[in-house]
Amino acid sequence: MFEPNTLRYLDEALVILDQGFQGLPEFTPATQPEPLRAVLREIAQRMQDNFPYPHPLYAGQMLKPPHPVARLAYMLALYINPNNHALDGGRASSAMEKEAVANIAHMFGYTTHLGHLCTSGTIANLEALWVARQARAQGLVLASEQAHYTHARMCEVLQLPFKSVAVDAAGCMDMNALEDALKHESAGTVVATLGTTALGAVDPLHEIMQLRERYGFRVHVDAAYGGYFTLADNLDGRTHAAFEAMARADSIVVDPHKHGLQPYGCGCVLLRNPSEGRFYKHESPYTYFTSAELHLGEISLECSRPGAAAVALWATQQLLPMVPGGEFARGLEASRRTALALHRHLANSARYLAGPAPELDIVVWTMAAPGRQAASRRAQAVFDGAAQRQLHLALLRVPNQLAAAWWPRLARDAETVTALRSCLMKPEHAEWLPRIIERLDNTAAREPLSA
Ligand SMILES: *Cc1c(COP(=O)(O)O)cnc(C)c1O
Repeated sequence: MFEPNTLRYLDEALVILDQGFQGLPEFTPATQPEPLRAVLREIAQRMQDNFPYPHPLYAGQMLKPPHPVARLAYMLALYINPNNHALDGGRASSAMEKEAVANIAHMFGYTTHLGHLCTSGTIANLEALWVARQARAQGLVLASEQAHYTHARMCEVLQLPFKSVAVDAAGCMDMNALEDALKHESAGTVVATLGTTALGAVDPLHEIMQLRERYGFRVHVDAAYGGYFTLADNLDGRTHAAFEAMARADSIVVDPHKHGLQPYGCGCVLLRNPSEGRFYKHESPYTYFTSAELHLGEISLECSRPGAAAVALWATQQLLPMVPGGEFARGLEASRRTALALHRHLANSARYLAGPAPELDIVVWTMAAPGRQAASRRAQAVFDGAAQRQLHLALLRVPNQLAAAWWPRLARDAETVTALRSCLMKPEHAEWLPRIIERLDNTAAREPLSA
């Protein structure tokens, strides 16, 4: 599962890296190898206490293994350990970050941009909302009820007024509810989620853009999860139209550490208008003293950042260019196809109650039962039973309104319904789907229908 034989390419590359520093006097760090080896072996034991995230039978939460080239590039860069806060801390990796970020901006159709990598989608969204506040000081921040909770929380941090907007039965922002809010209150920013965390639902950004013409507000796109699906050729028409509208958004967040095959610690924030870099202006007596040009530390809320993350992303983009029709795009298409196939299976079986057809690659369902309580109990039992069969799924608590729309015949003896949820993020899930379904069906068959 771990492809250990690729490690020899790291050895080979380290020799080349070392050649760049040959002029220096000989220096060998005094590391004792044996104690180090003992600690590593202990870690290998302890890390066995994990779900098998890289394996295709792990089909639960949003966990996609980094590409081997990302892992190796990250490790290789660690021998320099660059800090992309300032050019002093990492010239090569800063240049690679700018190239990698420009590629992402290009993928979304931005013709101008300012952007950088950061720790996570959370920090990237904080930064985008902070820039929004600096750019137009007043007005509500509106995001859907299914938006990531970080938006409400970061509005508290930034002391911005926040309000959530109702969703439709598909979990997308309801345009009537949005227009209602816009009529009655002054909105500063509308956050559109392209790929919600729970369902992979895509807010109709193209329709939000039409409302922007009438009401005037800033548009921030949280595509932390779903952004890369802009490359996929098998989306529904409305979903595709939402992705096409991204080029007109004021800011975009995408997480290369979710669908972009990167190790954790890799989020990305993009601003369409480079002049918004002015909001970051500050004086610092201790950094920047050797470089005259604007660099990454001057357009970021965070200071020290791993240059290794930029190197890993750059490496992955070299191997798997983010272009329609390319291998990377085909991987996303496979995920979406697999999700549709699983959804079809669930919808055609009397054992299950399928949720809405997936817009991206997340599938949600519960178990057939007379009422919500029994369905929830059975979903929990299937979750546990599947794990015993080495199939790892996730659970989701479906709120009343969505549960009523999806499963109207379930007796409403509880406020919410526990559902099963599967993020089919690995291209290999396509090939493994028959085995996933077999394990799921076998588990479900053992749960009495009348539980
Ligand atoms: C995951 C996610 C976030 C938060 O990103 P982190 O990288 O986990 O901090 C924000 N928004 C959406 C839509 C997400 O899916």
